Amino acid sequence: MYKTKLFVVSAPSGAGKTSLCNKLISKYKDRLKYSISYTTREPRIGEVDGQDYFFIDEKKFKKMINNEEFLEWAVVHGNYYGTSKKLIEEYLSSGYDVILDIDPQGARQIKAKYSDAVFIFIVAPSMKELKNRLVNRRTETIENINIRMKNALEEIKFYKMYDYLIVNKYLNIAFEELNAIYLSEHLKTKDIENIEELIDMEV
Ligand code: 5GP
Repeated sequence: MYKTKLFVVSAPSGAGKTSLCNKLISKYKDRLKYSISYTTREPRIGEVDGQDYFFIDEKKFKKMINNEEFLEWAVVHGNYYGTSKKLIEEYLSSGYDVILDIDPQGARQIKAKYSDAVFIFIVAPSMKELKNRLVNRRTETIENINIRMKNALEEIKFYKMYDYLIVNKYLNIAFEELNAIYLSEHLKTKDIENIEELIDMEV
């Protein structure tokens, strides 16, 4: 009756994607899971292994590539990031939707494999605002901020690959938009195989 789906969310670093995804996951705890990625990036202060990411070294990451353990992987801002095939398959087959917070290179790979995944792109209202948010977040060095700003300009060019665009000026409005996408994606008639499972047809 309920067709589980992948929700692929991409955004330039600092656009507010993590806050929006976390809000959606806490609203739909019983039906939506977050895909915890593997990365070779160093953990930031406060990040927890196995919760934010699985932090691994490059040798292990490359071994996982060779063993075809990733549904997709990419080098982003100079580090490796990848989505676990096993984790996604487990979640989908246990009846959960999954949200993937991945970059456009990864989104393109998912698009080739899951034709009915939903693709959402989130942007800050301006590049100045994006920079302010990155600076105020205090998680990145100046060098890293510059890399991320340069990559943001490149990533935005891929917005047409996505089904939806959210301009995150105000978090509450952006969240309402994300929530509306999530809900309406489960009302699609093409995903309903048997209407009698939804409506009591007895007269
Ligand atoms: P951050 O280092 O800020 O956590 O993430 C940097 C970028 O890597 C973000 O654009 C994020 O969406 C992307 N990313 C995180 N996990 C994955 C993944 O598993 N695959 C890909 N392709 N990108 C990822």
